[in-house]
Amino acid sequence: MVQNKQKKALVAGGAGFIGSHLCDRLISEGYHVICLDNLYTGRIENISHHLNNPHFEFINQDVITPFEAQNLSVIFNLACPASPKQYQKDAIYTTKISVLGAINLLDLATANKCPILQASTSEVYGDPLVHPQPETYYGNVNPIGIRSCYDEGKRCAESLCMDYYRQYRTKVKIVRIFNTYGPRMAADDGRVVSNFVTQALRGEPLTINGDGNQTRSFMYVSDLIEAFMRMICTEDDFTGPINLGNPEELTIKQFASMVVELTNAKTIFVNQELPQNDPARRKPDTTIANKELCWKPDVCATEGIRKVIDFFRIELSKIG
Ligand code: UDP
Repeated sequence: MVQNKQKKALVAGGAGFIGSHLCDRLISEGYHVICLDNLYTGRIENISHHLNNPHFEFINQDVITPFEAQNLSVIFNLACPASPKQYQKDAIYTTKISVLGAINLLDLATANKCPILQASTSEVYGDPLVHPQPETYYGNVNPIGIRSCYDEGKRCAESLCMDYYRQYRTKVKIVRIFNTYGPRMAADDGRVVSNFVTQALRGEPLTINGDGNQTRSFMYVSDLIEAFMRMICTEDDFTGPINLGNPEELTIKQFASMVVELTNAKTIFVNQELPQNDPARRKPDTTIANKELCWKPDVCATEGIRKVIDFFRIELSKIG
């Protein structure tokens, strides 16, 4: 039951990896949380610890279908499969989620006159030719490639946000999220962090795509959630987009060696084909986030990866 004046947050995609950490944070700050998720990639285990809490409502709902709610203080749109393996599984559905989901949630934010945080992505920069990537960079996206369902879907969602802002003064807050990792990632999401850590723990070879010289900048999930909480408190006209990521850039080869060292794995590396349109370099320019949110990531790669190793040790013991 919602108490008088209690803040009410709607988290679309709340049973996912990032969404569930956000639900934890909102509950700990006294919000009443409505978690919308159709469990397409989200998992009930991620939120099971809240299911008996009267201040937490789980609603099994696809964001493609319009949804009504009153007295919302804030909306977070995190509903979308985010790993290449998951978003390419049904590419047309991915585009529908990104575009129709954004429209439905922007309508809801407009009706509630509340801020909406739109989870965008570093993928809006595609395979960037500018390094590091500032928010002013328009990107280098292949509009017909195998990643475009996600890249273009998220670009369209950003475009919608800005048009809702211009037409209806909707309080939009666009965040471009760079590679994020942490406990509750799915062991089989196909991402490099989950793949390498589970492979190392199982004593299997680590599968390096291409020559492993491509780079990524990895951010621990708690740093991201902190930035979300700061972003929703900004002035109504502060729309973003704003990059959220850890500027500590690693090659995939370096990342593989780090995982092997931290797990003490006795394993080898194998090279496999680089997927099409795999970005060669990715590193956020976080100047705006540093200045406007007084935010910078706190958790270094070694510390964060240790936590993920501990998480996957337990997960794998359950899966076998
Ligand atoms: N990658 C890899 N081995 C794997 C999975 C991914 O070398 O088993 C590479 C992938 O080709 C990309 C990088 O790691 O260059 C990050 O991939 P991920 O799927 O985690 O996310 P992306 O940043 O590409 O969306």
